[in-house]
Amino acid sequence: NEFGDLGLNEQLVERLTQLGLVKPFPIQAATIPDALAGRDLLGRGQTGSGKTLAFGLPTLHRLAEGERAKPRKPHALILTPTRELAMQIMEALRPLLQTMRLRHQLVAGGMSYTPQLRSLEQGVDLLVATPGRLADLLERGAADLSEVKITVLDEADHMAEMGFVEAISEILDLTPADGQRLLFSATLDHGVDKVAKKYLSDPVTHQT
Ligand code: AMP
Repeated sequence: NEFGDLGLNEQLVERLTQLGLVKPFPIQAATIPDALAGRDLLGRGQTGSGKTLAFGLPTLHRLAEGERAKPRKPHALILTPTRELAMQIMEALRPLLQTMRLRHQLVAGGMSYTPQLRSLEQGVDLLVATPGRLADLLERGAADLSEVKITVLDEADHMAEMGFVEAISEILDLTPADGQRLLFSATLDHGVDKVAKKYLSDPVTHQT
């Protein structure tokens, strides 16, 4: 069982191989085919299991397909609880994004607004964001989520614990209702169950 057998974009598989990533971890082998088939997903994954590529690879695959408007609007959105996690996700995906010539921007609090605003204005393919700062930019009219094809909710239980359920709902309400959504959470506490119920459509559940 190799990444090449899962139906992923060939350029992506080639780059993974160059990076020494050949065999998917169980969570990746389980979730990637369902995600590529367009299913919504509820992943009960723990950290360290390879979750980042489990949601990152379907996200990049989706970004590689389809026409891009000019200026580019985000086609993919990854929401995660903290700036540190957002930076880790970006670091993990950076070599793949570069190969695919995809534009990306980190949107998080505790950082200058200027680069975030500038890249949104210039056009971006992927946003990796914390809910607070993204909700803030949306209120300023600085971000447009109307073309988002796939949204990832990473560590949804931690986002909920931090009081982000309302911000998450506001953000998801601004993405197309028929977009694909992947939600990862160790538990369904703190209102994650309600978010899953409202925003996931007939999800496949993977316990990892
Ligand atoms: P994560 O749970 O996504 O933070 O990943 C944990 C660690 O496993 C990271 O250092 C990844 O680079 C590494 N990793 C993820 N998937 C694979 C894989 N299929 N083969 C080898 N290493 C991997």
